[in-house]
Amino acid sequence: MAGPPLLELDRLSTHYIAAQGARVVRAVDGVSLRVEAGETLGIVGESGSGKSTLALTLLRVLPPAARIVGGRMLLDGEDLVQKTEPEMQDIRGKKIAMILQDPMASLNPLFTIGNQVAEPIRVHEHETRRTAWQRARALLNAVRIPSPEARVKQYPHEMSGGMRQRIVGAIGISCEPRLLIADEPTTSLDLTIQAQYLNLLRELQRQHGLALIFITHNLGIVAKMCDQLAVMYAGRVVESGPVSRIFNAPVHPYTKALLNAIPRMDDPDRRLNAIEGQPPNLAALPPGCSFAPRCALAMPRCREAAPPEFTPEPGRTAHCWLAEPAAAAGRLIVSGAV
Ligand code: ATP
Ligand code: MG
Repeated sequence: MAGPPLLELDRLSTHYIAAQGARVVRAVDGVSLRVEAGETLGIVGESGSGKSTLALTLLRVLPPAARIVGGRMLLDGEDLVQKTEPEMQDIRGKKIAMILQDPMASLNPLFTIGNQVAEPIRVHEHETRRTAWQRARALLNAVRIPSPEARVKQYPHEMSGGMRQRIVGAIGISCEPRLLIADEPTTSLDLTIQAQYLNLLRELQRQHGLALIFITHNLGIVAKMCDQLAVMYAGRVVESGPVSRIFNAPVHPYTKALLNAIPRMDDPDRRLNAIEGQPPNLAALPPGCSFAPRCALAMPRCREAAPPEFTPEPGRTAHCWLAEPAAAAGRLIVSGAV
């Protein structure tokens, strides 16, 4: 692959440090990932696995209890962990933007739609009010809001849920960021609107060459939208690589369980296979692999030592002792020997 990636995370860790001696929650724990320009990375994992914390870390908009405790996040080779707050303000919206799950949380009920779409353009690109409003109307047009001339003067409560979501999308792309992070952007939409919105995001991505990080619970959306996939479990990326390779030949037992949890179209019951057991408490992780207590294939060593990153094939990673070359070859060898 030519040149450095757009975004490179290197053993990034963000913990919630609660007051008065409560235990530390390792919400993001040594995450390494790459995103190339124009590419879509899907992040999946059970509720509480650290997906949103990772997204908030990238923009450095974490709640007060959270701390980035280690690692680097390189955007075009520059480490965002080291940036000052004024430098980050310049990056947010302009280089990295985020679309949240609940559009009402991103929109201010007291300001008109036009104001809110034009605002980042005025702040970041120092455009005049007139030009910013013109661009706001063009953006609403681009995200298929009917009669944008009239809609810019309205307030969020006057829009449907699908429209609000598209407006948040318009704000996300308003300053033409290089990377857009979408944290479950379709959960509040009905299926038809969801499909339209995903198509729109893909179209915007093609037009603007943006990279997209798409956080979702829905593996169907991953199949439709994403080039690369990262599977998170208990704050760690347990498997990553091209979507088609992971779907065809998952390596980590957790990934296999997630893929098995999708009901098959040819199954008359079409019941969702729940993954047995509970996700671990991130404030009291077991020694060894966090998935071991729920893993049918766990070996004694899985409960003793956390697996390092293995490369099951070029371009893929897996944190699982089963992916160790020796185990994969069905041989037992002394670690370090070949
Ligand atoms: P979901 O799929 O439900 O959105 P998620 O993968 O986005 O889940 P996060 O919201 O990142 O998960 O949470 C990761 C862990 O951090 C959880 O254990 C959660 O309880 C904890 N956590 C999140 N926010 C805080 C906070 N403000 N203070 C303390 N712990 C928090
Ligand atoms: Mg979340």
